[in-house]
Amino acid sequence: MSVQMTHIKHLVVIGTGLIGGSLALALKRAGCVERVTGVGRSVENLKEAVRLGVIDDFSHDIAAAVSDVDMVLLAVPVAACDQVFAVLATSLPDKAIVTDAGSTKQSVMASAERYLSDVSRFVPAHPIAGTEHSGAAAAFAELFENKKCILTPNEQTDTKAVMQVQAMWEAVGARVKIMSAAEHDDVLAAVSHLPHLAAFAIVNAVGKSDHAFRFAAGGFRDFTRIASSSPEMWRDIALCNQQSIVDKIDALQEELTVLRNALNTHDGDALLDKFTSAKQARDIWMSKYGDKL
Ligand code: NAP
Repeated sequence: MSVQMTHIKHLVVIGTGLIGGSLALALKRAGCVERVTGVGRSVENLKEAVRLGVIDDFSHDIAAAVSDVDMVLLAVPVAACDQVFAVLATSLPDKAIVTDAGSTKQSVMASAERYLSDVSRFVPAHPIAGTEHSGAAAAFAELFENKKCILTPNEQTDTKAVMQVQAMWEAVGARVKIMSAAEHDDVLAAVSHLPHLAAFAIVNAVGKSDHAFRFAAGGFRDFTRIASSSPEMWRDIALCNQQSIVDKIDALQEELTVLRNALNTHDGDALLDKFTSAKQARDIWMSKYGDKL
């Protein structure tokens, strides 16, 4: 697919947090956008976004904000997409393109289909980039450089709209991949959603004792960094990709059961097998992809 240059006259970012704010900053830095309007709930976050130059102006009224828009980005927690699409259904100008940054794709696409009479100009997207911080103050222009962004168009999606969204993400340094929403949700359940739930669970299990926390060091910090992510965002991701995540939790539980049994029977060979295969798999992954993370 050949990609064109991006020029956006008016971008509306619904959900002016880490992801929406970072895309706005990066597009501004690349000279690809003339005006960015932020939409959100709290006036403090939106005022901070203006102060930091993330957005040019803001509104709490989605319909008013999109009246002359050419690109809309939904960057709200995924379960909030329903209420956003419900308003866009009656307010979106004909030629406007809508995209999103949600961490689950089948749920967001189902949400678009529930409300929009024409889903052809909705291009689902998920940048595989982020931090554990939230809000406009956490946004930075370099976030997407050399990171993957997955688009999950289906047969109804307009090819030109896909090309425009691809060009937008490439303009901020992302490497665009296209796959089905089902594949996206299965893969991301394994490499992102399960590790987040495991990190929340480990911190809760260990955090029952403040005494243990006092002795936690770098390994614990590295393993649990993502447990500092937004609880609201992760509640939505978990509920919106429920079946895939349950499958991955089952797989993790099976692995833990093998380790537990090996410990109970003092089976050092079984432990060595499991630790060696995990080390080999991770080392190969890091040597192949470590410099692209
Ligand atoms: P964030 O920093 O918490 O930003 C979300 C923004 O949405 C907040 O500024 C919040 O503003 C606003 N918001 C929340 N509910 C809203 C609603 N009902 N209507 C309007 N605005 C609302 O979160 P984020 O990390 O940017 O994540 C945004 C999206 O990107 C999520 O769908 C997430 O799954 C996805 N994503 C996140 C990451 C990551 O690592 N963080 C990576 C890739 C994709 P107020 O609180 O002021 O209302």
